[in-house]
Amino acid sequence: MSVYKNINNILEDIGESCLKAGRAPESVTLVAVSKTKSPELILEAYEAGQRHFGENYVQEALSKVENLPGDIKWHMIGHLQSNKAKYVAGRFALLHTVDRPSLADALNKQAVKLGITIPVLLQTNLAGESTKSGADSSGALAMAREADKWSGLEIRGLMCIPPFGMAAEESRPHFRALRDLSKKIGEECPNSVKMEELSMGMSHDYRVAIEEGATLVRVGSAIFGER
Ligand SMILES: *Cc1c(COP(=O)(O)O)cnc(C)c1O
Repeated sequence: MSVYKNINNILEDIGESCLKAGRAPESVTLVAVSKTKSPELILEAYEAGQRHFGENYVQEALSKVENLPGDIKWHMIGHLQSNKAKYVAGRFALLHTVDRPSLADALNKQAVKLGITIPVLLQTNLAGESTKSGADSSGALAMAREADKWSGLEIRGLMCIPPFGMAAEESRPHFRALRDLSKKIGEECPNSVKMEELSMGMSHDYRVAIEEGATLVRVGSAIFGER
């Protein structure tokens, strides 16, 4: 298995999917999901030109942030407890998993304290799966409406993890629902949030996600092998 080859194949696929969807290839960013993977493997991806990496676990992520090249853009894509806000503030290019007002409060408090703005996405769980985090559509809309009170957060879009289906096509309605919700929130709250990013699509369904408007695809096993 070659990380270099995998990345180049995926970038090629991304280009083809964009072409098919009539989109510019630069409109999609590949986030290489490196949870549980060694710094050595991450460096292989880095050597291949990869700069965006996604991590799920705060402690593991922070040690990688400390020890790997400073021009890496780190994405937090795992569930966040509010008491971890002080550790993640200022350390990530984007937090994908803000799914409840109490977490937004905690992150905002840290941002204000540090005098920074934290870019975030609202994680939604439109399929209503009880085993997954995420706001439902009214919860996400309510957070967007309230966003002005979180002056330290920049809400830049939405993220979802659809129910795992064997076929990529099974994800399509979920991706479409996320895109529709993003449009609705963007129209209702044009001043308090930006709905520029859609974080959706993983190893088995990123092509479908791109056809439905993904701007960030989170791909792990197709790059680094099974976990
Ligand atoms: C692990 C993970 C991924 C990557 O999944 P693969 O199927 O390995 O591509 C993407 N998104 C989230 C939120 C994850 O936890």
